[in-house]
Amino acid sequence: MEKCIFCKIVSGEIGAKRVYEDENVVAFEDINPQAPVHILVIPRRHIERVNDLKESDEKLVGHLVLVAKRIAFEKKVAESGYRLVLNCNSDAGQAVFHLHLHLLGGRRMTWPPG
Ligand code: 5GP
Ligand code: ZN
Repeated sequence: MEKCIFCKIVSGEIGAKRVYEDENVVAFEDINPQAPVHILVIPRRHIERVNDLKESDEKLVGHLVLVAKRIAFEKKVAESGYRLVLNCNSDAGQAVFHLHLHLLGGRRMTWPPG
């Protein structure tokens, strides 16, 4: 089966501006940033969406959030504020079916989201 685009970023077949990586996750700049800081934090393992997460992924999901928090401090948006987003399926606008946590910051955001 053809690898998904984020699996290709994990393997290095497609380039990305990586800001962090470890044995379980990779974080890189979004190609079409929606805020001054827009980073995607993804598991190395291909998981399509939040709906596919299992109980055994609890630690991994926690790790994604903690990595995003650490990057928020590094990018100096932790105090001003930032948003963490997981889009699941079509109503949420999920376009890439490899789980990814958006870290958005560096500008004032509105609520509710569009
Ligand atoms: P979704 O709408 O699925 O939650 O978000 C997918 C995100 O992936 C979008 O913000 C989009 O800009 C980003 N994206 C899609 N393809 C690539 C790519 O090849 N490289 C990078 N760095 N980001 C991508
Ligand atoms: Zn994938």
